[in-house]
Amino acid sequence: MKLKKQDLVGKKIDIHTHCTGVMLDHLINQKYPIAQDINDLSNIVIGNGIDYAITFPIPLSIYFDHIKFHNEKRLCPSNMTDFPFQAENLTMLYSISKFNLTHLLPFLSVSTRDKVNEQISFIRDMLQQYPIYGLKYHSSMDLCAANEKSFEPFANLAMECDLPILFHTKMDNYANPMNLLDFAKKYPEIRICAAHLAQLYKPFYEELHSDIHYQNVFIDCAPLSRNHFAMSAMNPNEHLIFSNPVCLIKELSNENPGRILWGSDAPWNRYVNDQNRVVEYPDDVTLVDKSGLWPKFSQNSINFLFGIPR
Ligand SMILES: [Zn+2]
Repeated sequence: MKLKKQDLVGKKIDIHTHCTGVMLDHLINQKYPIAQDINDLSNIVIGNGIDYAITFPIPLSIYFDHIKFHNEKRLCPSNMTDFPFQAENLTMLYSISKFNLTHLLPFLSVSTRDKVNEQISFIRDMLQQYPIYGLKYHSSMDLCAANEKSFEPFANLAMECDLPILFHTKMDNYANPMNLLDFAKKYPEIRICAAHLAQLYKPFYEELHSDIHYQNVFIDCAPLSRNHFAMSAMNPNEHLIFSNPVCLIKELSNENPGRILWGSDAPWNRYVNDQNRVVEYPDDVTLVDKSGLWPKFSQNSINFLFGIPR
């Protein structure tokens, strides 16, 4: 059964985690990690005192030929499944249900590149059978922006079924955070989350503050310390720079009240930092402990998942 708003009040919520599926690109490039089993995710979440975690599959779907994507940046069917994210979404839903992992709240991943009608009818079918909390879209891997016409069927479904959407962001043509503001303006009824701090991209935050119509826009910091580490090296003329991760979330929360969510991006919050130390899930949790922002993050996550009280 789907949880209700009141079940999440005051709870610690991780809004961005991955499970099921495999990132073969990382395996080919000897990068880590390449996958995360749902039971491993469950243990990490519970072991670190987090009450609930939103989770969705790892891109790229095995519907696509990973080798062609890796070598030619082209999305071609692999003929391994009938439509994109069929295996990944199904495995995730089935595992959550069979292992009774009621603290893991699934979002379904989608792709605009092929078999959209099949995906839509699959999602409708799954909504009847499992508790599902939203949709996830990874523009960079799908080689398509959220504000392109091909995403419309999923936007219409999200509106009809009141499903929030979490969008990956990156400084490329597809996942550029400015595309999400365009989408947010077009669909004010859909609650969206710009992942990865919307790249701390200054024009995004300037535009966000300039218009009262962006009340449906949320921002996650997944993964906080890794993002701070990476983004502090970005061009300060174009990106917001903060002295440390705790200052980052405190200042950003003050400047964007009601919008900031905490997400770990597990398993991609595990990395070796510049002091050659392995940074892991508990390190990110400690940063939020230090900031005192759990109650705010909890309320913001509830609003993203269930709607903003008016
Ligand atoms: Zn992610």
